[in-house]
Amino acid sequence: MTYSGSGLGLLPDEHIDLSERILKNEEDGTRSLTDPVTGLGNLRRMKLKTDKLIEQRADDPAPFSIGVFDIDRFRPVNDLFGRKAGDEILSQVALRISAALPEDAMLARISGDMFGMALPTCFFEKDAGRVGALLKDVFNAPFDLGERIVRMSASFGFCQYPFAGTTFDELFDKCESALYQARKAGAANVSVYTHEMAREMRLRTQIEQALRKAVAAQEIEPHFQPIVDLASGEVKGFECLARWRDAELGDIAPSTFIPLAEQAGFIDALTKLLFAKAIRCAKQWPKNIFLSFNLSSVQLVDPTTAFSVLAMLQKMDFDPRRIEIEITETAMMSDPETAERIIDELRAVGIRILLDDFGTGQSSLGRLRDFSFDKVKIDQSFIQALGEDEKAEHIVRAIVNMCEALGLSVIAEGIETAANADKLIGLGCLAGQGYYFGKPADAETTIGYFSTPNSAEDGKLTCQITEPHCCAG
Ligand code: C2E
Ligand code: CA
Ligand code: CA
Repeated sequence: MTYSGSGLGLLPDEHIDLSERILKNEEDGTRSLTDPVTGLGNLRRMKLKTDKLIEQRADDPAPFSIGVFDIDRFRPVNDLFGRKAGDEILSQVALRISAALPEDAMLARISGDMFGMALPTCFFEKDAGRVGALLKDVFNAPFDLGERIVRMSASFGFCQYPFAGTTFDELFDKCESALYQARKAGAANVSVYTHEMAREMRLRTQIEQALRKAVAAQEIEPHFQPIVDLASGEVKGFECLARWRDAELGDIAPSTFIPLAEQAGFIDALTKLLFAKAIRCAKQWPKNIFLSFNLSSVQLVDPTTAFSVLAMLQKMDFDPRRIEIEITETAMMSDPETAERIIDELRAVGIRILLDDFGTGQSSLGRLRDFSFDKVKIDQSFIQALGEDEKAEHIVRAIVNMCEALGLSVIAEGIETAANADKLIGLGCLAGQGYYFGKPADAETTIGYFSTPNSAEDGKLTCQITEPHCCAG
């Protein structure tokens, strides 16, 4: 049984309002209670059953469980073999699961490949976990579609009344949160809504509300990490990294608040705020120093992104040729056409595009052929493994050679030691960043770089970072 792991409970990605779904059921079936494909009850019937259980248990609050599951990767099977085959699988699932459930349980098909169940005598978390594990095993046998046989699996989420809620809507919502946690752990998992999950969801809500206020109050700050020429230690530019400290919650990492802003729908406001602040800082730097800025996945599916970036640069009178935009491969994957258009529009005015976290995506080589990038940033996992893992060295060497052949610049990130910097120079990598050269620092500290004795008259800025590491430049 998988319980919510680390991190914050996030909303299910296909979250559809429950009342909308019930309404849809009503429209489809003129208030019918039956799903025509499987003959099971539908969402409306599951709600009626749950309402009845809640009513019965009002005086005697004995717990009961409700659960939901959906079939992993059902859509591709449906698309590949046709709707009839899909319906056949759904019917077989309905038969198998019905047979495996306790007699007093009710099973419903909620929508698409999603099913729900009410379990009146499943009292505790561990009971629900046990039912989930059993139902998961029910999927082990292949499904016979006549001409072919397919293997399927499903992910399960359960919760208990009254701990998780006292209305159907609340309970269903918690089941979906548990299901989301199960899916996050990979296919074929079972998750039960726990105190820990409840705590995470409360924390998530608290962070989201604080973040919303912080964006409105313009409290997100850009920090800057130097990007240097590895051989000379000369600073070429800075990567902007978002920082947020909340009075109550303390420092929150961007890996937490950026995805949260994306899901809550205010990543655009956050990015505009940060970009404007970063440009304001960069305007005080020497003109040969570039600013590298990260765009998030949500922005790469928004066709207005390039316009927003260009409008900001124009408004702030900042040379686009001093801008690099960092995007990740995963971010481009959800809508490659829009991403391509954004990349082309940005490149057309001289902005350089950098493929971030290179080597961690799924099909990096194909992306390099299909899209126009200027730079590739080798993911820090490879850099940190240098010296310990010979394979990492071979991979870095191969990336450097390949990029050279393709006319792309290469940056290494996450350089923490002199030994790694030297190794990278030996491998032909020309540029890099990392704690060894400088940790991300606030605007004021960054400006300080330019007034140190090492910022020579020739305009070249040698990396001379405060403790703990200082490059040899
Ligand atoms: P990223 O773009 O890959 O940024 C590099 C991360 O590595 C940063 O973490 C940086 O502080 C950290 N780092 C730099 N040098 C070293 C090193 O030598 N060793 C180690 N261990 N780490 C190093 P940070 O600032 O926590 O950011 C995490 C991620 O959050 C970023 O990964 C990026 O994906 C996202 N992020 C940060 N700021 C922004 C932003 O303004 N917009 C967007 N969309 N994403 C951002
Ligand atoms: Ca980056
Ligand atoms: Ca990166």
